[in-house]
Amino acid sequence: MIMSELYGSMVFDDRVMSKRLPEETYKEFKKCCALDLPLSLEVANVIANEMKEWAVEKGVTHFTHWFQPMTGITAEKHDSFISPTKSGDVIMELSGKELIKGEPDASSFPSGGLRSTFEARGYTAWDPTSNAFIKDGILCIPTAFCSYNGDALDKKTPLLRSMEAVNKQGVRLLRLFGRKTERLNVTVGSEQEYFLVDTATFEKRKDLFYTGRTLFGARPPKGQELDDHYFGAIKPRVVKYMKELDEELWKVGILAKTKHNEVAPAQHEFAPIFTSVNVASDQNQLTMELMKKVASKHGMTCLLHEKPFNGVNGSGKHNNWSLCTNFGHNLFDPGSSPEDNAQFLLILAAVIAAVDKHQDLLRISVASAGNDHRLGAHEAPPAIVSMFLGDELTGIMQAIADGRSFSRRANCEVKLGVHVLPQFAMDRSDRNRTSPFAFTGNKFEFRMPGSAQSITGVNVVLNTMIAEQFEEFADELEKADDLQAGISKIIKRVMNEHGRIIFNGNNYSDEWVEEAKKRGLLNLKSTMDALPYLTSPKNIKLFESQHVFTERELRSRQEVYMEAYCRLVNIEAMTMLDMTTMEILPSAIKYKGELVKTAKNSIKVGVDAKAETDAANTVAGLVNEANVKVAALKKALNNAHGFSTTLECGNCFRDEVIPAMDDLRKTCDELELNVAKENWPFPNYGDLLFSVH
Ligand code: ADP
Ligand code: MG
Repeated sequence: MIMSELYGSMVFDDRVMSKRLPEETYKEFKKCCALDLPLSLEVANVIANEMKEWAVEKGVTHFTHWFQPMTGITAEKHDSFISPTKSGDVIMELSGKELIKGEPDASSFPSGGLRSTFEARGYTAWDPTSNAFIKDGILCIPTAFCSYNGDALDKKTPLLRSMEAVNKQGVRLLRLFGRKTERLNVTVGSEQEYFLVDTATFEKRKDLFYTGRTLFGARPPKGQELDDHYFGAIKPRVVKYMKELDEELWKVGILAKTKHNEVAPAQHEFAPIFTSVNVASDQNQLTMELMKKVASKHGMTCLLHEKPFNGVNGSGKHNNWSLCTNFGHNLFDPGSSPEDNAQFLLILAAVIAAVDKHQDLLRISVASAGNDHRLGAHEAPPAIVSMFLGDELTGIMQAIADGRSFSRRANCEVKLGVHVLPQFAMDRSDRNRTSPFAFTGNKFEFRMPGSAQSITGVNVVLNTMIAEQFEEFADELEKADDLQAGISKIIKRVMNEHGRIIFNGNNYSDEWVEEAKKRGLLNLKSTMDALPYLTSPKNIKLFESQHVFTERELRSRQEVYMEAYCRLVNIEAMTMLDMTTMEILPSAIKYKGELVKTAKNSIKVGVDAKAETDAANTVAGLVNEANVKVAALKKALNNAHGFSTTLECGNCFRDEVIPAMDDLRKTCDELELNVAKENWPFPNYGDLLFSVH
């Protein structure tokens, strides 16, 4: 199929709407979307009918309200278009009411106490700003999901609220610069890392199957040390996969753009072209789903877990975030006139202040049991939040703060609104790859999110904190007599109070951990260290003042995330126990028996049996050790189950269960290196990492 026919062929997008809807309806729809007005039922009816006609022409019989509950994955319930007529026939129908609102029985989705099962009713409400699309012959209508009394039960609702907050406060700020901005949008492009393994190999590993990561596995002789995979030639089987994935993504209107091999063997990366944050987050969910689906067609399994293999890089998701006016002006573009520079530097100051004030929230937004293995390990940003501006930009900000000249390139006093600032376009080669939050020329790249995570949460935090900062600045500057002086004052204050968050050095070094401590920055190592901060008075105030979360909603989320952590670690621990007692120990014991038999036979005929005896003794020792560690892990699990609050339970998983798991793994990995390959019960790291040819 040619590209022009392929691209967007499965999306009910603007092109389709402008062509198919009556002109009046189309105009009304566009107006409502642009100004956030509710649609009349009349207009909704016309759109619903046309949407259905379009879908039916493509062989579709069912529709679903597609939403993102707090599990972080998407949910759907399928209804057919079929409707009986009086004459006993059936017609295909989709009413405006059905398009706008759905009522799934939602009792089994996590709500963190917001809704008990007896009031199971939840509503899904159409989000007309994200296009409906066809997936597996089903018309998917993106929706928000909330409870009977309006509490957000999903990830989209707070995202839409946070976009509104940015818009409201951002437009206020831009007005001060005489801009006629009507709407300020948030744009996001998310780069996605993943692993591909051969499915036949994958299926032999219970740990991968149940938890998405390996819980055992000795290091293979070759990992990523030769750096021969990064940007290397892509294997033919993977090329075919990527080609089909691109096509599937293009069909649903996702602008798949970049693909390459990543650092670890079997690791790859995908990036789309950026778009509005709401659409980007829906598209990222859909992308992850399609990645898995297309892989299975090629006999491969796509691993989205943050740390599928110890000893080689894990996978992240870079969230490239920017702000853009309805006239297409990117607020993180430095610009070339003095006025532009003043505005740019003020906005930069807002980001600096917000990131420093809300380090805890940024850390929480990427907290998950899976991502804990990655943050702070050597390939990923550390758990300490800081930001990279580059030496030049930092120098300019500092010079303004100090009221002195910036001497790097132009030896002049930096006075806002008077000079064109020295050129500070970022040199691409000079980029800092280790910073968790890096300015990359015209956007910020937040590199802490985990590969399996929805990007919704991180963007809710980014949007809300910048909205709060814009509000603070706008309040102040609206009262100022002299705008430029007011901006200088703000920049000075921000650099003094929050400049500590800027770090342009190597974030992976031990010195940075020390230095960050001296600066008073947070270092929240694990999910359970971070989550308690979510409901601090500062954070409740932030989210309530920007109308993004009520305190109730925030508390419910805290509960949901802690519960998810406990459940996940519990599954991992149980899987380890199963694998050890049912696979590893029986195999090792059998192997020991074989060695003993061989030794006995040798001795019988007078042949030296030292090697067999030594090997048998080593295996015996490790088997005994593993046995003791199984008991220790069981005890730790038991302790964890004994607590009544999720906080205590989660802390016990962190402090007792995970260390017991690590300990058991150590012995089993050692055992693996002492048992013949053919006696080992499942494929090893070498088999997995090099399973796709
Ligand atoms: P990198 O900076 O990682 O080398 P790119 O410059 O191609 O690579 O950008 C990476 C991602 O950032 C892509 O998904 C791209 O669409 C996105 N991106 C680029 N500009 C913006 C922007 N203004 N807002 C949001 N995302 C953007
Ligand atoms: Mg990047």
